[in-house]
Amino acid sequence: MTTIAGVKCRLFAASSDGPGELYANPLRAWDGSGDGETSFGFHEWLVVEVELSTGEVGIGNAALGARLARDVVTRYLEPVVVGESPADREKLWQRMYRTVVAFGRRGAGMAAVSAVDIAIWDAEARRLGVPVYELLGGQNRPRIPVYASQLYPTADLDALAAEARGYVEQGFGMVKQRFLWGPADGREGMRKNVELVRTVREAVGDAADVAADAYMGWDLDYARRMAWLLEPFDLRWLEEPLLPDDVVGYRELRRVSPVPVAAGEHEATLAGFYHLITTGAVDVAQPDVNRVGGLTPARKVCALAEAAGVPVVPHAGQVHNYHLVASQPACPMAEYFPVNPQPLVGNEMPHLLFGGEPIAKDGHIELAQLPGLGITVAPRGPVYEQDPADGEVTYGNGPDRRAAAQV
Ligand SMILES: [Mg+2]
Repeated sequence: MTTIAGVKCRLFAASSDGPGELYANPLRAWDGSGDGETSFGFHEWLVVEVELSTGEVGIGNAALGARLARDVVTRYLEPVVVGESPADREKLWQRMYRTVVAFGRRGAGMAAVSAVDIAIWDAEARRLGVPVYELLGGQNRPRIPVYASQLYPTADLDALAAEARGYVEQGFGMVKQRFLWGPADGREGMRKNVELVRTVREAVGDAADVAADAYMGWDLDYARRMAWLLEPFDLRWLEEPLLPDDVVGYRELRRVSPVPVAAGEHEATLAGFYHLITTGAVDVAQPDVNRVGGLTPARKVCALAEAAGVPVVPHAGQVHNYHLVASQPACPMAEYFPVNPQPLVGNEMPHLLFGGEPIAKDGHIELAQLPGLGITVAPRGPVYEQDPADGEVTYGNGPDRRAAAQV
């Protein structure tokens, strides 16, 4: 029987340009403080490699609390999957979930579960010689529509408009921008937020849909008021205006908002999405495969959403999300982070960390016909592998491949 022979954690990092506060965020919503760059930027990335007894190596990753997730994998998850069959993914997910449930139902603990789960799917698909989407149910569409997700706030509205037009010229049928201001910034901040959206909408005209992301940076009262101010701009959705725990707030906002409401990138597991979807809290569900618990629960979230008539547009532009979108009828499109954006926020790191991470062409992704997820770990500057001799990394039973990852 093929078994999981070893689990290896590797931590990668990229130096940040440190452009300062970039977008609305939960701390700014609370007291006006909070640096979106240092608090919420993703400049460290955990890669988990699962090696099978037959030699295939599957790759999973996590960007949420990468160091914490690494410790969870090493201390808690590796012991429960090594020696097991990679075909038994439901059983292994239950074992991992039940091992970390007391401290890891969401956040870094579930990011760790996600990374291992994704790596097991990848390894098993490689062993079988098929793309992961085939294991997930096959390919619904050969070309996945993707939307360009960047457009960070700037005082230079001409530059923002030019960036938006650039995405349309590249063939994207939708763009997503970010807000900066929140409740602590008063009416003046509301006016500036509206100007950001007006700028992008006028720049793209009817050539593209526009969505806008508040990254947990508002509260219900502010979101209700903003929703009506944004109504004239025909937004595809207003994303994550509230904290992820405020499901009641989302439900109320969706009831009164003239703008569709999207959320879910900080929610986890089928149980978490059950509450979001069945209470009517969201128009669009946005699980992220490397936060929700991996592909095992992600496809169940899609099935639940499909039954409820709620579209699923996964958060983040990574290959594991594309395989989900390719295979699941509930998923009309995917998010896409541009390759060389300005400013650098960390979302672009997968392009620098992995070989084979899909590149959009004419606003679409076409997945390669390769076994597994079709990626390799191939870091290149400014991404580098952190020295595992920092005393925190314990390698699993698999061979040490540090030498193979020289940048
Ligand atoms: Mg978001």
